[in-house]
Amino acid sequence: MSDLIAAWIQITGEVSDIAVREELRDRANGLGLRGWIRLMDDPTLSLHTEGESNAIQRLITSLEKDPRIESVRQEPVKVEKHEQFAIRGIPAGLFVVHEHQAGTHHFDLRLEVGGVTRSWTVPKGPSLNPSDKRFAVEADNHDLADDGFEGTTPDGAAIVWDRGPYEQGGRVAWPEAVERGHAVFVLHGEKLKGGFALQRTRRGAQIQWLLIKRRDERAQPGSDIVAERPRSVESGRTLDELLGRPTVDRASQTQ
Ligand code: MN
Repeated sequence: MSDLIAAWIQITGEVSDIAVREELRDRANGLGLRGWIRLMDDPTLSLHTEGESNAIQRLITSLEKDPRIESVRQEPVKVEKHEQFAIRGIPAGLFVVHEHQAGTHHFDLRLEVGGVTRSWTVPKGPSLNPSDKRFAVEADNHDLADDGFEGTTPDGAAIVWDRGPYEQGGRVAWPEAVERGHAVFVLHGEKLKGGFALQRTRRGAQIQWLLIKRRDERAQPGSDIVAERPRSVESGRTLDELLGRPTVDRASQTQ
């Protein structure tokens, strides 16, 4: 058995259609290859693949024969031990972050994963600062219909603090990545953008995680997004306004 190698392949031509990426994913899977493919803004296709060298060579040969493809360039890269061949840059579903005043003040992060909403309670809320490791407690899955809720409740209120599509990331396919306790994802919200990771730190009755911003071009070291952007992305209201109490300027308080 030959060694595992990795190649980064750039493909130009008539490659924008999602069907091209789907075909390449299927072909890569058929050859036992792992990695990912992404359509860049150029628009070229960027493909990271790992596997046996003759399988990679067969994939490249098939690309060179494809009439839609103009050029194929490859260079060797480091093996990252991917466990799937994924199409990157396409939404997996929606995420919502609620700011919620109930018994306590906290934020709730919700991600649609395979038709259910996975939910984490984040006391301090998310951060765009990669140095912040925000404690999160896994909450029960719940109905997708609750995801847009904004308003008052008998014991408090909630606003839609942020929402948008998200992409699954990382080397392991979802939902297995979540079950294994290390989930990487990319948010496309109004406030939260770029790569994040949820890392499980403790199992048991209370399952604990850390929510961490990944170091990428969307990271904002030194920022405090929760204080800087307190308003609902749905209504423009703050949680304090909804509760009928004076708005505390937390951004200036923290300086
Ligand atoms: Mn809550």
